[in-house]
Amino acid sequence: MNMDVYKKLALKLDDLPNWFMATESGIELRLLEKIFTPEEAELAAEMFFVKEPASLIASRANLPEKQARQILKNMVRKRVIKFSKRERELVYGLMPFVVGFYEELLPRMDQELAELFERYFQETGGEITGKGLSVHRVIPVEESVDFEMEIFPYERASDLLEKAKSWGVRDCICRVQKKLIGDPCDHPIENCLVFAPIEGAFDRSDVDRAITKEEALKILNEAEEAGLVHTTGNYQGPHYYICNCCTCSCGILRAVVEFNKPSAITKSDFLVVIDGDLCVSCGDCIERCQFDALELGELVCEVDPGSCVGCGLCVPVCQDEAMVLIRRPEGEVLPPPENIRTWGEVRFEG
Ligand code: SF4
Ligand code: SF4
Repeated sequence: MNMDVYKKLALKLDDLPNWFMATESGIELRLLEKIFTPEEAELAAEMFFVKEPASLIASRANLPEKQARQILKNMVRKRVIKFSKRERELVYGLMPFVVGFYEELLPRMDQELAELFERYFQETGGEITGKGLSVHRVIPVEESVDFEMEIFPYERASDLLEKAKSWGVRDCICRVQKKLIGDPCDHPIENCLVFAPIEGAFDRSDVDRAITKEEALKILNEAEEAGLVHTTGNYQGPHYYICNCCTCSCGILRAVVEFNKPSAITKSDFLVVIDGDLCVSCGDCIERCQFDALELGELVCEVDPGSCVGCGLCVPVCQDEAMVLIRRPEGEVLPPPENIRTWGEVRFEG
């Protein structure tokens, strides 16, 4: 197989803010080969993130427009490129790998794809989301935040769901992938929440199950009870999804613990504090923390501020109400970029 078309596409994907790192073994090309046919890869390599009409893409690729349209249509069906209607014509754009078309491969995820992804994850040292400003940010459990604190809309998972007009849920692709390589975790699988500012957005989806707002809020709650960390895009908004992550399966949190890359996720702007007068050193919170940020000191439990990501999952398990989330010292965690565009600009600068 001539891999040149996949090399060309890999370079194009690596030009996007999410990046698509090359490896010495070239495993990333095998991944692309599994996902794109050669003619799809050839055309995708001529596309940009900014959406354009098929005629422009066809002319750059030196293809008859009719043929290019058919290939674009196939890629839209496979959910590996994005499209929308602008005025009277369809426009098409390149999607990044992670977060991007990888998550859309859910219906096609099989053992081969799962193993290729795992090799890519290992060979990049967990840097599937590249370097620099992280792709995802932690959203704290709301009930864990000191009730006197002012909290921004992008820091409230329930607000993001409340403001949407339609909701869906899909299986977590990370847990599906880990299961397929024979290393499943015990956490629930169907809890990746998606939402949209228009009604009925998920009614015809073959990836997402359309649900009500109440069901979405219930899933959010159940995820907290299961000890899962809420995360979403590392910008203020608009947001369209909330992941419920664990360090055993999530491609981003695994980078934090397996490859000691704390910068793979941006912490929330909160930090847990423990009231030494109330703590009875029971150790319940230690079991809860996925980041080894807590340990029993001589008399009370102590937190390592450098390891705490401010998820707030430990707070509700403390029956002695000795824990609460407070704001970190000013400037320790930068406010997220305003939107995904400014996030991309910061990534390029970094
Ligand atoms: S759960 Fe509460 S009381 Fe128990 S060790 Fe943690 S902070 Fe202390
Ligand atoms: S100590 Fe652990 S569980 Fe608690 S908020 Fe920090 S990271 Fe989350």
